[in-house]
Amino acid sequence: MSEKVRADKHVKLFIPGPTEVRPEVLDAQADWMIGHRMPECTALIGRIRPKLAKVFLTEKRVLLNAATGTGFMEAAIRNVANGKVLNCVNGAFSDRWREITAACGRENEVLEAEWGQPILPEAVAERLAQGGFDAITVAHNETSTGVTNPIEAIAQVVRQAPNGENIMILVDAVSSMAGVAIPFDDWDLDVLLTSSQKAFALPAGLTFAAVSDRAMEKAKTVPARGWYFDFLVLEKYLLKNQTPATTAVSLLYALDKQLDDMMAEGMENRWARHLAMRDRTIEWAESRGLTLFAPEGYRSPTVTCISNDKNYDISALNAFLRERGMIISNGYGALKGKNFRIAHMGDLQMEDMEALFAAIDEFLAQ
Ligand SMILES: *Cc1c(COP(=O)(O)O)cnc(C)c1O
Repeated sequence: MSEKVRADKHVKLFIPGPTEVRPEVLDAQADWMIGHRMPECTALIGRIRPKLAKVFLTEKRVLLNAATGTGFMEAAIRNVANGKVLNCVNGAFSDRWREITAACGRENEVLEAEWGQPILPEAVAERLAQGGFDAITVAHNETSTGVTNPIEAIAQVVRQAPNGENIMILVDAVSSMAGVAIPFDDWDLDVLLTSSQKAFALPAGLTFAAVSDRAMEKAKTVPARGWYFDFLVLEKYLLKNQTPATTAVSLLYALDKQLDDMMAEGMENRWARHLAMRDRTIEWAESRGLTLFAPEGYRSPTVTCISNDKNYDISALNAFLRERGMIISNGYGALKGKNFRIAHMGDLQMEDMEALFAAIDEFLAQ
């Protein structure tokens, strides 16, 4: 792709996925094709694995596959949820867990919190107290509302619940992994999954999931796990630095490059940068007399959902921003027009945020 074409089309993405991908990372994809059983490919996956483990803060396996995050959501249910599942729903993406659970024919119960509110550990504890649960699903970062759920505290109450040691904790971290620390091992989670096109700041098409030993053992007892997403098959190949089917080689080139850059930045610095951009976004919104959709203490480090208290025309705002090479997100689904979302995720920097706020201010001054 010529620089010319690339420049003409460029609209910087302040939407909560897909996110902006740097030109160097786009270019990394344009290397020669290799076969997925060739030593060049096993070397590539061999380089990627230890770096991915550092992002997931785990010494366990991080499975990868060519798909988006929804693929591993479905895989999590099919591999380790054999009995009743508790779906914690407080937005559109956690509701997708509920749909997948039902579509896979699993029995389920739903624990709901109002959109914009977090799932509270006390509510989880109360529901699990009745016993009989096999797995629990929860979104770490509800992209539709800008709420981060307290996963560490939720995981603690799960382990204390009846049969808690055997309840599988399945966490969707699609829009937060690589933007915030989620210590998979320390929090004792079972499946923690993400996609390449959000805070990893890569093109879409890869999905990653840390999987506990407990979950791998459980999978052995679950029939009809399928094949493309069978955790046991995936691990068998991963141990040889391979994937069961043809892998998305170009995306792995980009991933390898991006992980090198993340390691060079330092994960602590990357997480701190996300928090600083979040805090600046909140400060900007409040200084304009706007309120936040998520309550304090649960505000996402990667996407801020701002209540449209002043009834701005969000579509007109976005048309204005587009002319200046930027775009933000309207509210999700029923929240369209009621709020709007600004993502500060991936490789965006503070100066990008400042340029965005200046452009929005220019629109508001008209
Ligand atoms: C984007 C998103 C998804 C869907 O991910 P895909 O990669 O499109 O499958 C799921 N959960 C959350 C929280 C998301 O933000």
